[in-house]
Amino acid sequence: MKLLMFSVREDERPALKAWEERNGIEITPITDPLTTENVELVIGYDGICIQQRVEVTEESIYEKLKEFGIKQISLRTAGYDIIDLKLAKKYDLKITNVPAYSPTSVAELVVMQALRLIRNSPIVEENMSHGDFRWGGLIAKEINTLTVGIIGAGKIGGTAARLFKALGANVIAFDPVQREDLKDTLTYLNAQKEVLEKADIISLHVPLDEKTKHLIDAEALKQMKPEAYLINAARGPVIDVEALINALMQKKLAGAALDTLPNEQYFFNYDLTGQALPDKNLEKLMNMNNVLITPHIGFYTTVAVQNMIDIALGSALDIIRIGESENEVS
Ligand code: NAD
Repeated sequence: MKLLMFSVREDERPALKAWEERNGIEITPITDPLTTENVELVIGYDGICIQQRVEVTEESIYEKLKEFGIKQISLRTAGYDIIDLKLAKKYDLKITNVPAYSPTSVAELVVMQALRLIRNSPIVEENMSHGDFRWGGLIAKEINTLTVGIIGAGKIGGTAARLFKALGANVIAFDPVQREDLKDTLTYLNAQKEVLEKADIISLHVPLDEKTKHLIDAEALKQMKPEAYLINAARGPVIDVEALINALMQKKLAGAALDTLPNEQYFFNYDLTGQALPDKNLEKLMNMNNVLITPHIGFYTTVAVQNMIDIALGSALDIIRIGESENEVS
């Protein structure tokens, strides 16, 4: 059996090699994404695995994959919105994703950023960068004295809750689905508003959909304590970023840590050294000394990358061998 893997990054190669050795199956890695121009490359392969930002919208791609005997497209990501599921069905292509590759990877980033915010670390670092080593006015809070509010206690939110609890924080949450296994870790409140009003740190872990777009808007920000911090490692549009900037400028919020922003596809994972920033909201946030921005790196750990490869290729094998996979999406 031979598999073709598109959009392979350098950092994926060790995980890929480990999988090949464990499974005795040959993988051909290529760096380009799957497009109409290169779909012929799949000829002679049994299956494909992709991970790309470029949408697979052209019908001819699906048509040719079927014509060349391909039965599946395996994504190495949780999101599968780049695939046209109707076209995939029309050409008998089964689509699989990686629903969870390492909730701990995102949860650890969130804990790190929460600790940095309560330690005033962005302000300390800015002061030190121009030689100001004073600590007056920068007294910090300890996490064990604070209440952390989790909005969306699913795989990542639940893991973050456990880490915060282990550090001694009081953890509260709002999620319409209440998990028995989290009840010794956190207290569920009945409304998002109650969590926003009570927490010193709010961390967002909801999926992005029509209902969660701008879940944190001007109204929600008003419900938070002015000394509270907001963390978003979910999806950019979950926060109305202009309302957030206003709240920060008016000191209605102590600070924020953002691993994801609206329009991030135009700047995250690009080297823009020496260039003007392409987004005015990004520029405003980057200029605030109580805001921490990371370029959507929550997922990016060795464990997560190995899991993405293992789970995606395992699903490809399942479809090729037995025609089904537990990670099929439709
Ligand atoms: P999940 O499906 O396991 O959990 C989401 C939870 O949110 C569920 O429990 C659901 O009931 C709850 N929920 C849905 N709507 C809600 C609402 N309006 N209010 C409160 N709770 C609500 O998802 P997950 O795997 O934990 O992912 C969480 C988020 O993290 C997603 O947005 C995902 O895209 C994002 N993510 C980010 C990174 C990163 O690198 N920063 C990596 C992976 C995932």
